[in-house]
Amino acid sequence: MEKLAIFGGRPVREQPISYGKQYIDDEDIAAVTEALRGKDITGGPKIDELEKMLCEITGAKYAVAVANGTAALHLAAMAAGVQAGDEVIVSSITFAASANCVLYCGAMPVFADIRPDTYNVDPASVRNLITPETKGIVAVDFTGQSVENDELRAICKEHNLFFIEDAAHAIGTKYRGKPVGSLADMTCFSFHPVKTVTGGEGGAITTNDERLYHSLIRLRTHGITRNRNEMVHPTDAKWYNEQVELGYNYRLTDFQAALICSQLKKLSLFSQRRKEIVEKYNKAFEDMPEIFVQKEIPQSETTRHLYILRLNLDRLNCDRRQFFDALWAENICPQVHYLPVYWHSYYENMGYVKGLCPNAEAYYNEVMSIPLYYSLTDDDVEDVVCAVKKVVDYYRKQDTI
Ligand SMILES: *Cc1c(COP(=O)(O)O)cnc(C)c1O
Repeated sequence: MEKLAIFGGRPVREQPISYGKQYIDDEDIAAVTEALRGKDITGGPKIDELEKMLCEITGAKYAVAVANGTAALHLAAMAAGVQAGDEVIVSSITFAASANCVLYCGAMPVFADIRPDTYNVDPASVRNLITPETKGIVAVDFTGQSVENDELRAICKEHNLFFIEDAAHAIGTKYRGKPVGSLADMTCFSFHPVKTVTGGEGGAITTNDERLYHSLIRLRTHGITRNRNEMVHPTDAKWYNEQVELGYNYRLTDFQAALICSQLKKLSLFSQRRKEIVEKYNKAFEDMPEIFVQKEIPQSETTRHLYILRLNLDRLNCDRRQFFDALWAENICPQVHYLPVYWHSYYENMGYVKGLCPNAEAYYNEVMSIPLYYSLTDDDVEDVVCAVKKVVDYYRKQDTI
């Protein structure tokens, strides 16, 4: 058996690779440069162009570009009317921002458990958590795979709830042939550098609802409107604008929008390569009893953002931490997505206790995300597979045959 790098052996590769990385080419740089030479570097034509592109890609009627994905979630929760006293049901395995947006509005997130095989929110768990205070759902398309949209929308319809889809992982994904972004009441995207498409920072909300659209546009700029129909004291004075509610400055700059537009032109390329890599990993791990491969639902045509390596710890003489550190020493640098949100000390201090979502908690103890990004070469993929196999070989339980 080969000596693991963590015990002084030779690492599988010399150059470390991490779980995610942006891809920026000369066209992207040219697009940013051009935007910087324009007349308006914020609130200008590139914002309109980006919003139009997002409508085309998602099939949504309206898109609102904002500063980042967290701002998108915050504004979506505000536009949905979330306020003190409300409960909002949120996926337990997601980035904290999916739940923080509920807290920003003074309401309480209620955490739903995941399915043990897809890792997406379990609609049955959502259903069990509904109370008279429940206002809506924030469900994340975890790793890029679409949530069970039909089931969640049916629950929302039945109980008169709003449905916000956190699609920070899922640009380019389709559900039953329809792009994510056109299905929920509001869908939130992020353009952080680890995501499939980046603007450095950036985010967007898509919706088919005109009223929500106008609300989002106002909230993005302080709650100030230039539309006379929305004013309490309308006038035809050219300079007059009016703050009609309390919003924020969540605007995106035009040079970020230009970068996102340029990146979106490569979305199908990005998507294709990610699918290829996922297939290679699946093929390599499918027959290994020490690894669980994420289940894919047939309704989702997925542009995968994360590849989750889930350990079958019954078959291994190690825990997740040891496996993670061993892989890291081989210069394959994973990350863990995610701590159940309510395990964060901030939430713990609010009174959330362990044990709320058993599937989520079991999941957390067994997973790490391995490299998945557009510029990952076939050789890199082979290195990752080789390192995973090397660590599995070392820790494999012999007595289970
Ligand atoms: C990245 C991410 C966000 C937040 O996006 P930012 O652009 O970083 O603010 C929200 N939800 C999920 C699931 C994410 O992965």
